[in-house]
Amino acid sequence: MKIAVLKETAANEQRVAATPETVKKLLGLGAAVAIESGAGAGARIRDEDYVAAGATIGARADVIGGAHMVLGVQGPAPDDLPGIAAGTIVSAILSPFNDRAKIDAYAAAGLIGYAMEFMPRTTRAQSMDVLSSQSNLAGYKAVIDGAEAYGRAFPMMMTAAGTISAARLFVMGVGVAGLQAIATARRLGALVSATDVRSATREQIESLGAKAIFVEKVAGIEGEGAGGYATEMSDEYKAAQAELVSSHIAKQDLVITTALIPGRPAPRLITDAQLASMRPGSVVVDLAVDSGGNVEGAVAGQIAERHGVKIIGHSNPASRMAPDASALYSRNLFNMINAFWDKEAKAAVWPADDDIVKGIKLTEGGKIVHERLAG
Ligand code: NAD
Repeated sequence: MKIAVLKETAANEQRVAATPETVKKLLGLGAAVAIESGAGAGARIRDEDYVAAGATIGARADVIGGAHMVLGVQGPAPDDLPGIAAGTIVSAILSPFNDRAKIDAYAAAGLIGYAMEFMPRTTRAQSMDVLSSQSNLAGYKAVIDGAEAYGRAFPMMMTAAGTISAARLFVMGVGVAGLQAIATARRLGALVSATDVRSATREQIESLGAKAIFVEKVAGIEGEGAGGYATEMSDEYKAAQAELVSSHIAKQDLVITTALIPGRPAPRLITDAQLASMRPGSVVVDLAVDSGGNVEGAVAGQIAERHGVKIIGHSNPASRMAPDASALYSRNLFNMINAFWDKEAKAAVWPADDDIVKGIKLTEGGKIVHERLAG
């Protein structure tokens, strides 16, 4: 089985879908790995490092030629896969809701598209979950970016010259990114509070030593929510949440928002009027900016400023930690291939009725086959 690893072409994408470590592991299974020249540059991996691990290096058309599976971080454009054969698996973050035309083109070309971000959230698939591996780093980096822009100390410092008070940091949305943001901000010494719509997060917030700030007047989502995910909230809940946030946010130095709803635009959590209530010099980091943003005035790929408050809207935050993000992402891919590896066939075999295969497979045999994309 030949596995091809592409150089990413999207703007701001520094990650890569294989590292020398995962190349060695794939070779250990019995696969052959071909890497597009320069693919690792953004993640600080040289072509010669891949060669030392046992991969071949080539131009895009050469690595794709004869490949049974093509690995990417972001889904490659269908017209940028020279010589790809029908029946080849393309495994990447395919973003079907943002770019349906691409998925239709994969189907038309007879490709088998595996959307890594559709990985089921089951115990068995945990080691293949790219949303978790990448969000964790994004949550960490949001605090580091916020601290840099804040330009003041996080911990309380009692010095001979007087006391510096601790920074107050509020995390909105306590999934994987939010939990890591809480943990990172606590390690740096901030006073941390956090909120979510799912009641199961209250205990998680408190166990990390942060204060849970919850809407009490209107019921949120019981427990974890469906599959661990939130849904759009009622107007009544949104009004109660806005009131709660308005009273809390004015006292915060930093806010990190991470709230997402699968398949929908990100919920709006902070209005311009609420930003105006914050002290000038405060910082808001919007990790949901690529999905429409949680914060009014956030601009993808920019640091905006409103009422003296900086709004950090870095696109693709995980890519800002490309070496670590690539190491984890490529292990997610290896773990998936390894789980389906057939030792005798020396190839991965993907049973159509397997819940992981059903979960991630978008296209096959010229058609869209995923139920979430039907119709
Ligand atoms: P996500 O990225 O979809 O959303 C981030 C957070 O925003 C979520 O906690 C969500 O509840 C919250 N949110 C959505 N709308 C909101 C609003 N209006 N106001 C405030 N908060 C809002 O979430 P995620 O990081 O993918 O994690 C979701 C859950 O899935 C977590 O509980 C996580 O532990 C769980 N999970 C399970 C597995 C597994 O079992 N294999 C793997 C990863 C994550």
